[in-house]
Amino acid sequence: MSHYEPVIGLEVHCQLKTKTKIFSTDPYLYGAAANTQAGPVTLGLPGALPVLNESVMEMALTAALALECEINRHTRFDRKHYFYPDLPKGYQISQYDRPYATGGQVTFRKKDADKDTTIRIHRIHMEEDAGKLLHGQGGGEAVSFVDLNRAGVPLLEIVSEPDLRSSEDAYYYLQTLRSILRAVEVTDGNMEMGSLRCDANVSVRKGPDAPFGTRVEIKNLNSFKAVRAAIDYQIEEQIALIESGQKIVQSTVLWDADKRETRLMRTKENAEDYRYFPDPDLPEFVIEEELIEKVKKEMPELPAEKRARYSSEYGLPEYDADVLTREKETSAYYEEVVKLTDDPKKSSNWVKDEVLGIVNKLDVEIQDFFVTPERLSKIIQYLNDKKFTQRIAKQVFEHCYEEKMEIDDIIEKYDYKPVDTSDLPAIVEKVFADNPEQVNDILNGKDRVKGFLVGQIMKATRGQAPPDEVNKLIDATLEKMKAAK
Ligand code: ADP
Ligand code: MG
Repeated sequence: MSHYEPVIGLEVHCQLKTKTKIFSTDPYLYGAAANTQAGPVTLGLPGALPVLNESVMEMALTAALALECEINRHTRFDRKHYFYPDLPKGYQISQYDRPYATGGQVTFRKKDADKDTTIRIHRIHMEEDAGKLLHGQGGGEAVSFVDLNRAGVPLLEIVSEPDLRSSEDAYYYLQTLRSILRAVEVTDGNMEMGSLRCDANVSVRKGPDAPFGTRVEIKNLNSFKAVRAAIDYQIEEQIALIESGQKIVQSTVLWDADKRETRLMRTKENAEDYRYFPDPDLPEFVIEEELIEKVKKEMPELPAEKRARYSSEYGLPEYDADVLTREKETSAYYEEVVKLTDDPKKSSNWVKDEVLGIVNKLDVEIQDFFVTPERLSKIIQYLNDKKFTQRIAKQVFEHCYEEKMEIDDIIEKYDYKPVDTSDLPAIVEKVFADNPEQVNDILNGKDRVKGFLVGQIMKATRGQAPPDEVNKLIDATLEKMKAAK
């Protein structure tokens, strides 16, 4: 059945981190008591008029320019009608046929791929979020509560072209998009808290030259895991349906993360159903050229630019540069370490191999990690000064976050002595004398056995001897023996 090709397009809702809502001065704080952040405009009271929040426009432009979109300076807001208690006005203020941004792209490099993948962005528009319904019990009956705190929170809807071909593509696209949006500081991008939400449109077709199949839209994807699992589920379900002679019906489904399946929500809805029309409360407007220039000038460094800089300025391999620039907190941490150690490659190894691994395992934010850039750079510096070996350094690192102790106190407590390399030649000589058989094997070409000697020397030094020094001494001794033969 592998001749089917999935076709996927994502609609991503990104919550902008402005202080106030998109069309009012109501604040928005996640977790605030229900309905405490909803004034007249949010409640849709008669006579309350919306006014566009200037910082929404600036953040929207920042996001669009970071994603290489065209800005449509002549733009406007439209009303999208639907009836549901999460939206008291009876319509959502959104943008319909004149979105402020079109075109654009997101580029990423998949692991082990030898070239980049580029996904085109179809459009971006601004809109207001709706409130939340909470379903529960009241007076022995099933009741629903409405919380309008989130209503009117600014969102960007970022719509991709149907360029994605696997759930893996979708995952990379979303990661990269999130990383860009966070780098330019327009959103927290927290999927679990809903500041980044994703709907996936999925269809399958018989090979890359066939016309697109009918699509199913999956809603309620609030984690990267859900995005992957739900898309894979849909792909399999659609292939099975087609194989059994059935047709795909255009529909919207919900992802159930517990049951790990999608459930039908509604069949096809059309744009006509929403009765879109221009919002008379918000007249058409023109985005000022000066504002666009200002946003361009103040644009922070993008992840792709940072990656390029890490390669040129720090001489890091592509892979290191990519890993270190995915999250702005990671790159901030790394740059702090480099500043203190002046050793970009060794710092990169420690941050990407040790720090990121532990931070993930412990599920802490890197900026809250006990081994701060200062503490880590001390370990790297001591390592470079040959105060201890790589192996000991790792132990010191572990003790540091496990026991929340300072580096110097750990060294004292565990009695990690600086490596005294003046003792080494004598130790090497003794190990050679104690193991004549193995030495003979090496001299007869069995290079593998060298590892055994290294092991013996490490044992004799309680693991504190620097491996490169040990190897050098072994080689030198062997050379001498060969010459003497
Ligand atoms: P709507 O406005 O009804 O949601 P759009 O045409 O704007 O529809 O498309 C929404 C999303 O669906 C876009 O991300 C687009 O890339 C994607 N899409 C469109 N056609 C298909 C298809 N046949 N298979 C998969 N995704 C599709
Ligand atoms: Mg849609």
